[in-house]
Amino acid sequence: MPLLVMKFGGTSVADMDKIRNVARKVQREVDNGYRVIVVLSAMSGKTNELLGYVRDAAGGPEAAAPGFYDAREYDAILSSGEQVTSGILSIVLQELGVQARSWQGWQVPVKTTSAHGAARIDEIPTDNLNMKFGEGMEVAVIAGFQGISAENRITTLGRGGSDTTAVAFAAAFEAERCDIYTDVDGIYTTDPRITQKARKLEKIAYEEMLELASLGAKVLQTRSVELAMRYKVRLQVLSSFSDEPGTLVCDEEEIVEKNAVAGVASVRDEAKLTLISVADRPGIAAAIFGPLADAGVNVDMIIQNISEDGRTDMTFSCPMDQVPLATRAIEKAKASGEINYHALDADTGVAKVSIVGIGMRSNAGVAQKMFKALSDDGINIKVITTSEIKVSVLVDRKYMELAVQSLHDAFDLDKAS
Ligand code: ADP
Ligand code: ASP
Ligand code: MG
Repeated sequence: MPLLVMKFGGTSVADMDKIRNVARKVQREVDNGYRVIVVLSAMSGKTNELLGYVRDAAGGPEAAAPGFYDAREYDAILSSGEQVTSGILSIVLQELGVQARSWQGWQVPVKTTSAHGAARIDEIPTDNLNMKFGEGMEVAVIAGFQGISAENRITTLGRGGSDTTAVAFAAAFEAERCDIYTDVDGIYTTDPRITQKARKLEKIAYEEMLELASLGAKVLQTRSVELAMRYKVRLQVLSSFSDEPGTLVCDEEEIVEKNAVAGVASVRDEAKLTLISVADRPGIAAAIFGPLADAGVNVDMIIQNISEDGRTDMTFSCPMDQVPLATRAIEKAKASGEINYHALDADTGVAKVSIVGIGMRSNAGVAQKMFKALSDDGINIKVITTSEIKVSVLVDRKYMELAVQSLHDAFDLDKAS
């Protein structure tokens, strides 16, 4: 029998009516002759509520990031939201006459690394589920976002991780397709909440989606796109609340549209830290970024300024909620004499805006057009980074939406090429 993976995000399972709507969609696919693996998120807002308990238990808002508390317990707490929705949907399906049961990550088992809070899936053995399918189970309802480590502890896959659960199951069970149902009806040229001009794409290349996701388009978790690309999973994003066709994530060759820029992504809560006047000597970057990596800080952009009198400024960016962690790591390195600097300056009021497109490889002048568009709107650029298929800038947070809109217009993303 052909098999489908259907994943429903938090807003799609936010209350009983919405869960009943999900059950009807699943039942329809069962009636179409599919075995179905459903992957669920927690009810929307639930995971954040659980995170609030973790922070409260660990000493309040200052304890904002892993590193301030036992990440194994963070996972035990945060994984519980998905346990609830998977159980509820199973009962609702049973009431409709569908043979369904819930599976927590550890019951499958979804085997992961021990990197609590950001674990990676190592393996999903198929025997347990296949045995139950053989015994008449029609739908397996999987609690997304979670797995189990070799140490027998519950792990979670990072925020938005249910997408990754879904794609990993699709790969392991060689599903015909992996459908990601969410609160938008596809992947757009930019977050449709930021501009009404955002245009739904019929298709997008794995590589472009991978960049967009890693640069802030949270419609898919980055790791899910990586897995889909590696295992050639046919991945579709569509709405839980309509029957509109969605967006297919596929190989570049399948795409006719050829805009140089495919989309704009943004991350609101970034921070920029500068170590003022560090010694400009071999090994200084390693002495700064080693301790930051050890502390688990996700350093993103880095710039080292021109040196004067053997001293230089070193600037980097990281997520805003990691500033306390980063500050602590740097101050510790200073106290132990590994580094020395005049002052540590933290700007917690920045956002990152990026343009992405495979077409940039063959189009000179894209970055220049971006800088011009921003300057025409009076937006100051604080840091720039580029790669073959993207350009990112840091700007003041208050200009984030304006920057996205201005770039969307500058590259005519509201029009198909
Ligand atoms: P779910 O709870 O279903 O996993 P998410 O909130 O994680 O849903 O992701 C869906 C949201 O992603 C949309 O509501 C939208 O605001 C946001 N988003 C950001 N960038 C894009 C984009 N390029 N296309 C579509 N949605 C996007
Ligand atoms: N519930 C988890 C989160 O909010 C996982 C997910 O929804 O994908 O991050
Ligand atoms: Mg999500």
